[in-house]
Amino acid sequence: MKKSLVLLTVISSLSLSAVAQSKIIAHRGVWKHTQAPQNSIKSLEEAIQLKVWGAEFDVHLTKDDVLVVNHDNDFYGIDIATATYAELLAKKHPNGESIPTAEAYLKAGLAQKGTKLIYELKTNKLGTERTLKAAEQSVALVKQLGAQAQVEYIAFSYDACLRLKELDAKAKVHYLNGDKSPKELKAVKIDGLDYHINVYKQNPTWIKEAKNLKLKTNVWTVNKEEDMTFFAKEKVDFITTDEPELLQKVLSK
Ligand code: MG
Repeated sequence: MKKSLVLLTVISSLSLSAVAQSKIIAHRGVWKHTQAPQNSIKSLEEAIQLKVWGAEFDVHLTKDDVLVVNHDNDFYGIDIATATYAELLAKKHPNGESIPTAEAYLKAGLAQKGTKLIYELKTNKLGTERTLKAAEQSVALVKQLGAQAQVEYIAFSYDACLRLKELDAKAKVHYLNGDKSPKELKAVKIDGLDYHINVYKQNPTWIKEAKNLKLKTNVWTVNKEEDMTFFAKEKVDFITTDEPELLQKVLSK
């Protein structure tokens, strides 16, 4: 009895890192405490250097069907969906980089194996047809580069998630929009939920339900230490953050 109590105390005093630990996804690369612009290749290199589990990035389709990496719908004022790739080259990130193509970004990520590439397919403002075209081109690009093992997809568009799975049944696809229960996602073979903090707080059973259904759980964007600790204790699979350096410290406590 005493022995097992001692054992229990030892186990419970072990750090968060001793149990199946949440993995870190750097949101838009690692940029907050570096000089790297969000979603630049430099921000990916910083993520690789920090040895985070995954680097997230956002992909849009230009008017002339080039996949490019940027968060907002515009790149320093140039609307991506209605501009050609050549037109986007008129602007540069403050570090001198042009808007990265998804191809260049993936190639930079494929130069190593330690950090996964978390490919967010953006919803095209011109409509579902363009979003689905972007999904098709993305899967083709990832296959062409042989990047399947290193890429996981995320998307707000439910239609895009379904199309991504249809095009590559083995691809890992996680849904971002927060309006589907774990059971609903399981029914359509989506691999996991990647939801805003508040969605989990409003649906406190979903992490457990997802785990029971063998779905992955990911939460964004977790930047405060108290929230990091909360979700680490909930054993969420992935925590997406703008503060990966802080999250590393929290998880190593
Ligand atoms: Mg994103």
